[in-house]
Amino acid sequence: MTDGKYWNERIETMPRDKLEEYQLEALREEIRFAYEHSPYYKRSFDAAGVGPDDIGTLADLSRFPFIDKVTQRDTQGVGSFLGELCAVPEDDVIFISTSSGSTGVPTMSPFTQKDFDEWQDVESRWFYQAGMRKNDRYVHALNFSLYVGGPDVIGAQRIGALCIWGGTLPSERLIFILKTYQPTCIWTSPSYAWYLGETCKKNGVDPVKDLSIRKIFVAGELGGSIEGTRRAIEELWGAELYDFYGLSDIFGACAAMCEAKDGLHIAEDHILVETVDLNSGEVLKPGTTGELVYTTLRKHARPMIRFRTGDIGYIDTTKCSCGRTHGRIHVVGRKDDMFIVSAVNVFPSDVEAVVRGQKGITGEYLIRVTEKNYTCQYEVTVEREESNTAETDEDVAARVQNALKARIGVKPAKVLVAKEGTIERSTHKAKRIIDERKLTYHI
Ligand SMILES: [Zn+2]
Repeated sequence: MTDGKYWNERIETMPRDKLEEYQLEALREEIRFAYEHSPYYKRSFDAAGVGPDDIGTLADLSRFPFIDKVTQRDTQGVGSFLGELCAVPEDDVIFISTSSGSTGVPTMSPFTQKDFDEWQDVESRWFYQAGMRKNDRYVHALNFSLYVGGPDVIGAQRIGALCIWGGTLPSERLIFILKTYQPTCIWTSPSYAWYLGETCKKNGVDPVKDLSIRKIFVAGELGGSIEGTRRAIEELWGAELYDFYGLSDIFGACAAMCEAKDGLHIAEDHILVETVDLNSGEVLKPGTTGELVYTTLRKHARPMIRFRTGDIGYIDTTKCSCGRTHGRIHVVGRKDDMFIVSAVNVFPSDVEAVVRGQKGITGEYLIRVTEKNYTCQYEVTVEREESNTAETDEDVAARVQNALKARIGVKPAKVLVAKEGTIERSTHKAKRIIDERKLTYHI
């Protein structure tokens, strides 16, 4: 417990040289633990000719092999119920979550009691960092069914906030909770935060005047880190928005925004971050964009050594104005969602940043990626606000097309302008990209 600015001041503000010493010690132990207890790591380290004694500096980690989602899928259930990546007997495991399986077979993530307790302490750190205190009332509006984000509510309870285990309620029920109990904080996805605020208004409830929500935590999509989206949601609710970032492969939220809102602090006492070149796998310097690769430093049930996340971004290790020394990650997109037009990497988040920043359109969008003569192209559909009578559809299309060209570097083949309300509003993870290419592009 704390009455100050930080949940754990010693850890969060540790000078970087001390933090790196701490990481090195923890990394040595984690590598040894993995090697001695996980059949997979024993085999893969031996095959690569590396072992626990080869970690002299943090940079030595680059000699160790990567793992990814495929490694998880191929090893789960092999040899034991928990699979070959796991490093403890089933008796020591007290919780598993599973991924949604939206990109293939669901993967399972196991936790020992210590893993679970330390994870919840990190969740408390993020809530506290975002300003949650014990006098807050908090609605946890995330899925509790199998999803790793469910138990994160315990982190808020540890702060002493009054917690309402909302889960994925129908909107009218959630609005009833917001009106009746007047909670001050809520966690949901950015698209749902937007949808819910709009739904409140349609039902005669003004989120700013009639409700007490002052802090919104979002995760699951990039919207919270896209300034236009963040500001639009903040304005709709009259609240501060904080982006959280999690991976079921590690634990709930692994990184979160502080008041500076310039990237997300990652729990570097638990996770070692590398950024690697997408093609060669070579380690890049901090500040350079590449694929984010994480190594757990304390997890026992399933250590993750050099896990390629498929997330593209960079880490900033300079000290933040909030006083925290842990690096901040800036995620720009998923490797799977990226497409290449005229040798330029395009992420849906870039399109979103433009669309949300333009006046006279609703901020909703749909991207269609197509190919013509073996060349990749993209089209963007936007919605014109009903109240926008000053422009023709052609004016709107030209304006958005120019703005996209300016931000991304390549303009879309077409911008289509639809009527307000045409694009389907999604309540959870929004699917805003339709990929119609027949070719497989390797990046
Ligand atoms: Zn900060």
